[in-house]
Amino acid sequence: MQNEKWGLHWFRRDLRIPGNEALKQNLKVTQGKTLGIFCFDSHFLSREDFSHNRFAFFLKTLESLRTDLKEQGGDLLVVDCLPYDFFAKLFLYCRWHKISLPEIVTSSRDYEPFARQRDERIKTLLKKEGVSYLDCRDHLIFEPHEVLKSNKPNDFYQIYSPFSRKWFSLLESSDGQARVNAHSNANEYFSRKNRKTDLFKMRWGDLRKDNNFPFLDAAAKFIEINSKKVTVEIPEAGFFAAYAKLQKFKKNLDSYNEQRNFPGINGTSQLSLYLKNGTLTPTQIVQNLKLDGKNWKAESGRNRFLKEIVWREFYYSILFHRPEVEKESFNPKYKDLKWENDENLFKKWQEGLTGFPIVDAGMRQLKQTGWMHNRVRMIVASFLTKDLLIDWRWGENHFMKELLDGDLASNNGGWQWAASTGCDPQPYFRVFNPWLQGAKFDPEGEYIKTFIPELKAASRETLHDPNADRGPWKYPKPIINHGVQKHKALSLYKVK
Ligand SMILES: Cc1cc2nc3c(=O)[nH]c(=O)nc-3n(C[C@H](O)[C@H](O)[C@H](O)COP(=O)(O)OP(=O)(O)OC[C@H]3O[C@@H](n4cnc5c(N)ncnc54)[C@H](O)[C@@H]3O)c2cc1C
Repeated sequence: MQNEKWGLHWFRRDLRIPGNEALKQNLKVTQGKTLGIFCFDSHFLSREDFSHNRFAFFLKTLESLRTDLKEQGGDLLVVDCLPYDFFAKLFLYCRWHKISLPEIVTSSRDYEPFARQRDERIKTLLKKEGVSYLDCRDHLIFEPHEVLKSNKPNDFYQIYSPFSRKWFSLLESSDGQARVNAHSNANEYFSRKNRKTDLFKMRWGDLRKDNNFPFLDAAAKFIEINSKKVTVEIPEAGFFAAYAKLQKFKKNLDSYNEQRNFPGINGTSQLSLYLKNGTLTPTQIVQNLKLDGKNWKAESGRNRFLKEIVWREFYYSILFHRPEVEKESFNPKYKDLKWENDENLFKKWQEGLTGFPIVDAGMRQLKQTGWMHNRVRMIVASFLTKDLLIDWRWGENHFMKELLDGDLASNNGGWQWAASTGCDPQPYFRVFNPWLQGAKFDPEGEYIKTFIPELKAASRETLHDPNADRGPWKYPKPIINHGVQKHKALSLYKVK
């Protein structure tokens, strides 16, 4: 291996080969001699809001990536080691065995506060070692430093509408179109049989000179330990599963606008968990669905769907420019709201035993499946903060522990929106009425009855009536009075 050019692609949340620009650049430099590495980070595994279910999906995605890499001649090493230690140990091993250091290390950019600090540290280490480093845009179409009000680097949008106007103008530009069109060879790489089996020309074994190789693959260990704690069915993972989901959703795209708010209808894409791990990117989705963004103001399923993708990018922009939102309200005025934080009520909310059918159905869907419909996420978040008067961070944390698609930027943005503490929030005086929300978005109770079997025989009127006699259904009475709590919530915010 002396004097041979080889490279490392450091996978993080870009767990796929197709359309992975940083990986592609690495392969170009090394003529195929690129190895994949994934480092489990103790920070990630010891987070208070760690989720065994999400981790199981993540591990399944990693294994799918490993299979894809192997089928194309490549390899993946999954280590139980901080990235900084990994690089330092690997370089020491290489020096000792007179193996040249990698020519290049590549990765896809990550915008979370912790990740940005970690990456700066790694860049410094690599520079010191004389190893070149390249990172590329991947899981956003436009990065936070690109969607700005002016040329000033921190002049970011705090309101979604102007952000989206700017975003669409960028999409319409020749650069925007080029980003999307870069994925137009999609049909080629979406087809498994068309793939090259010799895209990669190196395996980890090529570096292993003796028994002193300092790393063992840790994936099997993690899978074994974690699998015992999994409580939901883990969906199919990996690039092909994500692509299949996208193809299935294509049929619903034109009716997305009408259907997306009804949790009883399977009208949304359910791509969020694939976006989270980068098994599919928004750019690939936009290219594949031919969402060119022209005429974006018109009401249509395609435009509505694209606007949801923009919400995701908006929340990334907020987290990037205001990383402190991870811990506190975006709006300083609401930093110290006097939440009541009743633990007993919180428990009832978590368990889906509030006596508010639409809320309980959502919370039970979350517990049973690891996913919740967007309309219901808004309803349960509003209910927790403005009916139960519980700090949005409690809800945010619970969601992170339960959601397979749990993602800091969107989760934080969604919670702060619902609690009216964030950027572009729901105004505090607009409080969702859970009874009306249920009647409007699940009138026949299809969704409610799926997750609350106790209510299977309940009539439509009973489901959406706060005063209905619940006796026959073995289902709790409402734990609070919405009208009373709404007034309390309004004064809580008004005091500020
Ligand atoms: C309180 C709350 C918490 C949330 N937590 C998360 C989270 O942890 N992870 C997460 O991915 N989304 C979160 N969302 C946003 C949204 O609910 C989910 O992205 C959506 O329900 C995922 O289902 P889907 O893929 O079928 O969405 P679709 O309706 O098919 O939308 C397509 C994609 O657009 C993006 N998107 C849609 N709506 C939103 C939105 N309101 N904000 C940001 N991006 C959006 C998602 O990436 C989604 O996959 C949260 C919303 C709320 C109100």
